Amino acid sequence: MATMIRASVPAHLPIPRAVFPEKKPKVRLRDWFVRKLKREGTKTIYAHNQIARKKPMKKIARSRRRAMSEYFALSTKFLLRPENALCLICKVRREHGENILIQAATEVHHFAGRIGRLLCYVPFFRPSCRGCREWPHQHPVKAREWGLLALPAQWNVFPKD
Ligand SMILES: [Zn+2]
Repeated sequence: MATMIRASVPAHLPIPRAVFPEKKPKVRLRDWFVRKLKREGTKTIYAHNQIARKKPMKKIARSRRRAMSEYFALSTKFLLRPENALCLICKVRREHGENILIQAATEVHHFAGRIGRLLCYVPFFRPSCRGCREWPHQHPVKAREWGLLALPAQWNVFPKD
């Protein structure tokens, strides 16, 4: 602002002191916040500091949420079993001559995919370590040969019996 005033005043005149606008009325923090939200396009402002979101939260179907929580419970239980303590994929890879250490299992590898009921189908759970998570999908031919991945025809298909 000051530079703009300076530019409009001829050089020989003394430079005027900065002109201060009238003191702004005090704005309560909450009013200011509400105005800010309006400026930013938030549509509705409720009482109790509840603020309507610009974008609704990503919706997860209730059934999906339930399935996920069931899956987390099942996978935790599965990984806590002593026979599932170590990564099966590491073990099989080592048996086939790969020089790797067998890691502790921290994840569940879904032998035949995880769509629908397969997400919680424990017989198709395989203990896996973090590092092996993607391995069967990056090496599908080997993985199928070594029994770590379902055949394409059985992928994401719930077993019939
Ligand atoms: Zn592993």
